[in-house]
Amino acid sequence: MYFYCEKCKKKYPINSHSYQCECGGMFKLHRDLGEDYADKISLGEVVTPLVHFQSGKLDFLLKLEGTQPTGSFKDRGARRLINEIHNVGIEKIALDSAGNAGAAIAAYAAAAGMDCEVYVPDDTSQEILHQIESYGASIKKVKDGRMRACSVVKENLGDAYYASHVYNPLFVEGVKSMAKEIYKQLGEHVPDYIFVPVGNGSLLMGLYYGFLELGRLPQIVGVQSEKCAPLYEAFHGLEPQPKAASIARAIRIERPKRGLSILKALKNCHGDMMTVKDEEILEAQKRLGKAGIYVELSAASALAAAERFFQAGKPDNYRVVIPLTATGLKR
Ligand SMILES: [Zn+2]
Repeated sequence: MYFYCEKCKKKYPINSHSYQCECGGMFKLHRDLGEDYADKISLGEVVTPLVHFQSGKLDFLLKLEGTQPTGSFKDRGARRLINEIHNVGIEKIALDSAGNAGAAIAAYAAAAGMDCEVYVPDDTSQEILHQIESYGASIKKVKDGRMRACSVVKENLGDAYYASHVYNPLFVEGVKSMAKEIYKQLGEHVPDYIFVPVGNGSLLMGLYYGFLELGRLPQIVGVQSEKCAPLYEAFHGLEPQPKAASIARAIRIERPKRGLSILKALKNCHGDMMTVKDEEILEAQKRLGKAGIYVELSAASALAAAERFFQAGKPDNYRVVIPLTATGLKR
């Protein structure tokens, strides 16, 4: 297993302290066919439930990712990332995150006995901060938002390994497991559609690569907030609009690092990009709550998009999956 540059193909070992190629290209992961993963570190991951949900005349399948050990799908990526770097001797990591990824990586780092520093925007929720701290990680608060936390951590890495859920392809490698679970839960079928909230796109790309390995792609519909929709604009060839903060924290990324790969993936699966309004997200969150399911706002955004996408009706035999990315308990 090794990293290679998406542009010039130069190879880098997994324990490299470079987090992108010297040419500026992002890393991709090479893994030999059948090569085993490291799997010593576990927090008791589960096969998350896939449950039916009726919204008016529409039926959807919800993948309840809030049941993972730290409460979000990010545990899939964190588990893979920490296992592989622990296996090659990394003992100290630093990362930036505004939420679930930071909590997930801090938890797995704790289980692996690693030192962990998490750089967070100073408006990060108290619940997330408490969760990260409880795993023994040290928190560095950064003024002026998410993008700045990313540049500050890179300037202050020292001898720490940059365990980024955005730069490090091991994270997306872990998210692929969700595609395989869905396939099994549908009796070895790929869904027709899957609606995915998109910030940095780790969920979208993980599902895309996972289904690609299974040999058939669902139509993937990426969902962004109307207030911050760089990929929606690029996908539909629209003028970039000024960006503002959506209530859904995980989907307010202004410049996704792997934007081009995401757009390519969406075209390849005949997918689409949609935006949703804050009011629609809140209403969808309430509807889920009334069914006994409490989720983070980003998860609700995908349901809001699916409901609008099929507002004129949906063929009964279409299987539409919506991953509910995280519990609502830590917003
Ligand atoms: Zn390169």
